[in-house]
Amino acid sequence: MNHFKQIAAALEHRGLDAMLLSCEANRFYASGFHSSGTDGMALVTRKKNYYFTDSRYTEAAGRAVQDAELREVGPGKGYSTRLKEAIEEQSIEKMGFEDAYMTVQDYETYRKALPCELVPAAELLAELRRVKDREELEIMTAAQRIAERALADILKEIRPGVTEKEIAARLQYLMLHYGAENMSFDPIVVSGPNGSLPHGVPSEKEIRSGEFVTMDFGCIYHGYCSDMTRTVAVGSVTEEMRTVYETVLAAQKAGIAAARAGVTGRDVDGAARKVIADAGYGDCFGHGFGHGVGVEIHEEPRASSANGKSLPAGAVISAEPGIYLPGRLGVRIEDVIVITEDGCENLTRAPKELLIL
Ligand code: ZN
Ligand code: ZN
Repeated sequence: MNHFKQIAAALEHRGLDAMLLSCEANRFYASGFHSSGTDGMALVTRKKNYYFTDSRYTEAAGRAVQDAELREVGPGKGYSTRLKEAIEEQSIEKMGFEDAYMTVQDYETYRKALPCELVPAAELLAELRRVKDREELEIMTAAQRIAERALADILKEIRPGVTEKEIAARLQYLMLHYGAENMSFDPIVVSGPNGSLPHGVPSEKEIRSGEFVTMDFGCIYHGYCSDMTRTVAVGSVTEEMRTVYETVLAAQKAGIAAARAGVTGRDVDGAARKVIADAGYGDCFGHGFGHGVGVEIHEEPRASSANGKSLPAGAVISAEPGIYLPGRLGVRIEDVIVITEDGCENLTRAPKELLIL
């Protein structure tokens, strides 16, 4: 899968002759080729695409990159030289670049070396990546299923005495075992009083009876991320724990019910936030309702109070409200949803009713 065509089609109405992609996530989105390092560049023009890389990646890129001419960089023929050749061949006058990613140093180098105007255009890629096509959705669903299989297994292993770190390690192993290429991010596993740290790091702390365990994790499959959070109880729950859990779940469902194309990220966030505020926990939900997911674990669009723009059909966002009572406990529940014209589709199938192990 690659997206050269879609990028080329977007050049015209931005008045660009070409788009230079140096950021790994955008290069992958364009070419379908993942290079573990930072080296490589893609150049999309209206007529022809180029992929530049060095000898370490030439063979792998040759196998993976379709619809682009591969050119090797090396001593005496660096990226500037190779780009200059392509720019002259295609008579490029205005070339977009990723102002959100390119270093000032690289910008200065290319500005001096290349015979064309460099136009800030990172938004062009962000806009395309906001909306997923059918193939991307299929891959993301598969990535989600891998995380869910790992969850189903780990639930059988959570018991008093097991540490947060052990659970995190097992989740990673299980996702790789079920076909993940990598983790979307280091799994978050927090329990009991650690649960109030939304992005806490798994520790040597042992799980105890009467505690919540929050697990936030996901994997990369065919270059796309999954992301999910489940909070489960061990042994028993107090009335307060039950109230907090049910409030978070109701808030999550309210946000999901509000999500559809044309509604702003702020409104979706607000629908969930209202449920939490009405229950008296308004000060305990500090982060946004959700974020876009795709090639990167956090991308556009955001479903937060900061996003006043409407969500497009085809956007994939997380739905992850939480309530955090500092030093005592925390609950977060996260699914990943696809925005549609008349609502949304939940990619996450794992149950989310309160589970007491
Ligand atoms: Zn997450
Ligand atoms: Zn998330």
